[in-house]
Amino acid sequence: MTNLKDKVALVTGGSRGIGKAIVDALAAAGVKVVFTYLSSEERAKQMESEAAKENRVVIGYKADAASFSESEECIKFVLDKFQRLDILVNNAGITKDALLLRMTESDFESVVDANLKSVFNYSKHAIKPMMAQRAGKIINISSVVGINGNPGQANYVASKAGVIGFTKSIAKEVASRNITVNAIAPGFIETDMTDKLNEKQKEALVSQIPLKKIGKPEDIAKAVIFLASEYANYITGQTLVVDGGLVM
Ligand code: NAP
Repeated sequence: MTNLKDKVALVTGGSRGIGKAIVDALAAAGVKVVFTYLSSEERAKQMESEAAKENRVVIGYKADAASFSESEECIKFVLDKFQRLDILVNNAGITKDALLLRMTESDFESVVDANLKSVFNYSKHAIKPMMAQRAGKIINISSVVGINGNPGQANYVASKAGVIGFTKSIAKEVASRNITVNAIAPGFIETDMTDKLNEKQKEALVSQIPLKKIGKPEDIAKAVIFLASEYANYITGQTLVVDGGLVM
């Protein structure tokens, strides 16, 4: 029992992959969930109707996570609808891989804006209602490459390392208000994002993973449920690595 029933959560980038698994897991635990998406309107509508059939509250909201004003509007939408916000999961993210020699200014800016500025945007607007409630859980999705580095992903790695630093700083800022802020660093998880790799690249990656398999979005969703639950009340500022043992 996670005691999450009737809590209110906002998940950024919840229309596909890890975000969708997080939305599904929270909703299954009885949480009322608003999730954002950028372009997957149809998927969002489908998720809403599937959840309604199960008597779950799941609402899609179109907002670019990189936009400060859209994030403010989105948090306002959640508060108008539910009068509180208990759990914020900053999950939205993109990749635009290239070696530094070929990486453009826009490759760098767009990835940092979608992956790191987005965490600032949503955390900034969520923190006020959480402080007033004297309770809240913020969970930021980073990556193992934000710990270890990865050639061809300097923009992505910088954004994900930034998320870890941001997590620790905000955890210290808001701890006295009973708000915890943690990060999850997934390893190699089967989603559209990693589907770009060919079979040979995937095999090479799996051979380096001690548990010898690619992770599933549900593996990350379970870690989110743990960090959002009362079982993690005394954990803050941490990065939980969920990667089959890849980084240790
Ligand atoms: P994915 O399958 O590509 O899904 C990305 C999700 O984010 C989609 O719902 C997408 O919405 C949304 N999104 C992207 N940019 C957005 C924006 N600017 N505003 C709002 N929503 C936006 O990715 P994933 O693999 O599930 O990754 C989820 C998170 O886990 C990311 O932060 C990623 O960096 C991290 N991660 C993934 C892995 C992995 O192996 N997959 C490993 C480590 C970390 P639309 O559907 O509308 O495009």
